[in-house]
Amino acid sequence: MKIANNKVVVMHYAVMDSEENLIDSSYDHQPLSFIQGSGFLIPGLESEMVDKEVGDKFIVDVDAENAYGQRHDGYVQTVSKSFFEGIDELDVGMQLRAQTDDGEQTVIVIGMEDDEITVDGNHPLAGIDLKFDVEILEVRDATEDEISHGHVHTEGGCGHEH
Ligand code: ZN
Repeated sequence: MKIANNKVVVMHYAVMDSEENLIDSSYDHQPLSFIQGSGFLIPGLESEMVDKEVGDKFIVDVDAENAYGQRHDGYVQTVSKSFFEGIDELDVGMQLRAQTDDGEQTVIVIGMEDDEITVDGNHPLAGIDLKFDVEILEVRDATEDEISHGHVHTEGGCGHEH
């Protein structure tokens, strides 16, 4: 069975930057499963899945534009520490959930000085060209429930509140 829209795909992947430094890998733990065409994968990877089959192993190069987008300087902001009131210990490198004009967003603390902290709301992989090493483990038709929910159901069923 070839991968097409509304197929459930189970795959292992390793993702690297363009210099082949490993960023993340599923090979040591659970493979990733998703519904093709649901936008679960970044666009530059999802488009390369089409027509692949179980057992296929391949490398996909995805430039930043088709991965997590370019970095935006405007997403780096310096705010008063009181903005994150209730968080006991702030530290550089910490990830926080912040309420922004665009809704709730994950930001990373990149600097602290006196009562001000600088946070970066860019995705950690924004601006980075990526290389994926992919192995297709399973391809099957998604069920009607899966298609209407937009996600894969495992043996235990949905596992989400609807
Ligand atoms: Zn569901």
